[in-house]
Amino acid sequence: MVLMTTTELLHFVGIRIFWLNLTPKLIPISKQMKPVGHGNEERKIKVKLSFERKCKMKGVCKVCGCTWNNPCFNHQHGFCWWANKEQDLCSHCAEELLSKDPNTIHCVNGMVFPVLSVHQPYALMLVEGKKEFEYRSWKLPKQYIGKRIFIHATRTLTYFDPQFAEKAAFDECDQKAIVYNLNSMILGSVIFDESQEPTEYIVEGQPKQLYKWPVLEPIKLIKPLANIPGKQRIWKIQF
Ligand SMILES: [Zn+2]
Ligand SMILES: [Zn+2]
Repeated sequence: MVLMTTTELLHFVGIRIFWLNLTPKLIPISKQMKPVGHGNEERKIKVKLSFERKCKMKGVCKVCGCTWNNPCFNHQHGFCWWANKEQDLCSHCAEELLSKDPNTIHCVNGMVFPVLSVHQPYALMLVEGKKEFEYRSWKLPKQYIGKRIFIHATRTLTYFDPQFAEKAAFDECDQKAIVYNLNSMILGSVIFDESQEPTEYIVEGQPKQLYKWPVLEPIKLIKPLANIPGKQRIWKIQF
């Protein structure tokens, strides 16, 4: 038996207490592990709360979060409008037809869209589905095949050529373009299929090789986007 003085005993107990305090508590492994996705859940809740707070502000759609400065766009109906007096639900979320339409894009601010400028009345004919092909001296670039492209009407009117259009449809669209002054506007959009191999045409007395771009799914905007100057080739517009 080891005899200890009081000082030795206190010192021994002190060390034991000190040692005990340093000893990490054993926690079952199951409790040490954080539930999977714990961090993400917290994050989701935070995002949701801030979104709900934002939605209480007037002029923010409670479904998509669009605002006056960052509206939604539909290729036929144009930009969204408020569907209720509270101004917290936009038309493109409220109306089933619009919300389910694949041609509705929410919160378009900063988004970039391809545009093709076309002489009138061909631009109008394209969006009204009265022109089967677009004729160009260049091939439609690969990245635009099957993509929706805006059709922009230039200031210039052009003459009828039986090689490229049907007379009655040309005359009808020509009249509309003149009467309603449809120029420097985006009239709607179409999808172009892959260009067909070039064929020779005689344009203004000169032989010209032209590619045929098949026109698919034309959509005319109810209200054109006005005051937009035209550009060459396929250009981009940013909302
Ligand atoms: Zn909305
Ligand atoms: Zn909207």
